[in-house]
Amino acid sequence: VSEQKIHYQLLRIDLTTQQSNLEEIPFELYLELVGGKGIGSKLLLDELEPKVDPLGPGNKMIFVTGPLSGTLFPTSNRYGVLFKSPLTGGYAECYSGGRLAERMIAAGVQVVIIEGAAKSPVYLEITEKSAKFQDATTLWGKDTIQTYEALQIDARKDADMVCIGPAGENLVKIACLQNSKWHSAGRCGPGAVMGSKKLKAIVFSGKEKSPLNQRPEFRALVQKILEKLRAQPDTYGKDGFYRQFGTPIIADWANELGCFTSRYFTQGYSPHADKINAHAMKEQIFKKHTGCWNCPFTCGKFVEVAEGEYKCAVEGPEYETIALIGGVCDIRDIRAVAMLNEYCDRMGIDTISAGSLAGFLIEAKRRNLIPGAETLTIDYDNPLGVLDFFKLLVKKEGLGAEFAQGSKYVAEKYGLEDLVMHVKGLDFAGYDPRSFRGFTLSYGVAPEGPTHLRSVFHGIERNMPNRLEYENKAAPMLSEEDRMAILDSLIVCKFIRGVLDWGTITEIYNTIFETHVDNGTLREIAGKIVTLSRKFNVREGFSRKDDYMPPRTYKEALPKRNGETPALDREKYDMMLSEYYKLRGWSNDGKPE
Ligand code: SF4
Repeated sequence: VSEQKIHYQLLRIDLTTQQSNLEEIPFELYLELVGGKGIGSKLLLDELEPKVDPLGPGNKMIFVTGPLSGTLFPTSNRYGVLFKSPLTGGYAECYSGGRLAERMIAAGVQVVIIEGAAKSPVYLEITEKSAKFQDATTLWGKDTIQTYEALQIDARKDADMVCIGPAGENLVKIACLQNSKWHSAGRCGPGAVMGSKKLKAIVFSGKEKSPLNQRPEFRALVQKILEKLRAQPDTYGKDGFYRQFGTPIIADWANELGCFTSRYFTQGYSPHADKINAHAMKEQIFKKHTGCWNCPFTCGKFVEVAEGEYKCAVEGPEYETIALIGGVCDIRDIRAVAMLNEYCDRMGIDTISAGSLAGFLIEAKRRNLIPGAETLTIDYDNPLGVLDFFKLLVKKEGLGAEFAQGSKYVAEKYGLEDLVMHVKGLDFAGYDPRSFRGFTLSYGVAPEGPTHLRSVFHGIERNMPNRLEYENKAAPMLSEEDRMAILDSLIVCKFIRGVLDWGTITEIYNTIFETHVDNGTLREIAGKIVTLSRKFNVREGFSRKDDYMPPRTYKEALPKRNGETPALDREKYDMMLSEYYKLRGWSNDGKPE
């Protein structure tokens, strides 16, 4: 091992006693679990008491970086946060780009564990491997951008921040974290957990750099990856689709395929998608390209609506926001989607779950299924009505108080299980589960619920001739789930997965850790990491029964432009699920042996 052996540091911060403590993470743990997701999952499993109250002081927030974070490696800008979800009651993980991870490394810490709860609002300043506790009374109540401005983060070139907005303070269970201003760690309610700890923000600053950058072999590896990116100019080049259009370009293929989440999953296609797609965005509201730290193809877009009822300025909307706020609520104006996006980011709510809750309410209201809903203005193609609902949600007023508990809670309260669309209590990402089969399985077994990011298998399956067949899907999906588990442990952006095959991943591991393992070892590590998250859920009471799609998907076909996609076949889904468990080495009830 070279002289620049890395010392991985964990800063443990107890908000109850207002003390912090620095611990070294054994190098062997990195060899065993790579970093990020791997180490975060182990810490979550080891450190949380079983059945702990997600909004009590016993829950912990585990902020992780990966061994690539803050290095020259392209897209090494992401951090992760792991916690027990107040929305699902299970394992939760979120990742976000921007610049925060690089600043965590600069502050000298690879992992930060937040435990306990403060009595009154505080924020943390973390620098030189230690934490200062600061009074946040005057910040409490401010939105996320106001919090940035109050702490003058823009003026401090050496600092970045992650914070919550009013939704997190009010313990809204879909509350997210915002970092680097417009970047969100969105799903499963981390904002509510941070709010329950009375922690408004964490600011990271410092001057430390990853020693990896000094190693010639690592620099050569980075050059090799950059070459691979340059070899795919249509994807990663200056005129490639990420840079030109960003994720909103997905709206076009999703709509054509018939998986675009439209009118609360009653359609897989919208005749109005061209009013909220990448082209509409470019023509009407685009201001400038933006992106995360150390990303050569910056997919972000800053947009602005100068005046009128949709006046806004925000980085976004990303595809998922377009699909879940635009498609699900049938909003036919990209300016309105951007305005709602800005509202969600400022208040600190997940745009995916917020849009899905709004669509759920619209359908329930139209069918007279929720008493009192008729007094609300919310409806399809009514952005201001959606905004009014979001305001109730953030403040937990009226029906907003019930929806702030999540879609599963509302469905159980009003007997709407045949209408609601969720798995494990988490709302779907922007692809209807009936349009895929292997990816549908991925929605089912993802430990936090139906996110698109655990396998990203829809990106492959959409081009497969047997897209709607169940046979031979469990194994290739599992392989991608494994690959993504390693990417989330290194932590890099999923958008460079196109140049990170198993051989390259193994080369990265060997270069970082100065080892000589083969691809098989990496596959084994990935399986171990995925199983850690499953063990956490099993301990919380989850089992096979929680890995199914909602009832509607087995009963209703999905209309698309020309015809319809058939409903899911529960028996065949069962077959895929059993095959998946077997491949993972879990019991037929989905329990790791
Ligand atoms: S591709 Fe986009 S999301 Fe990924 S690192 Fe680059 S700017 Fe960030």
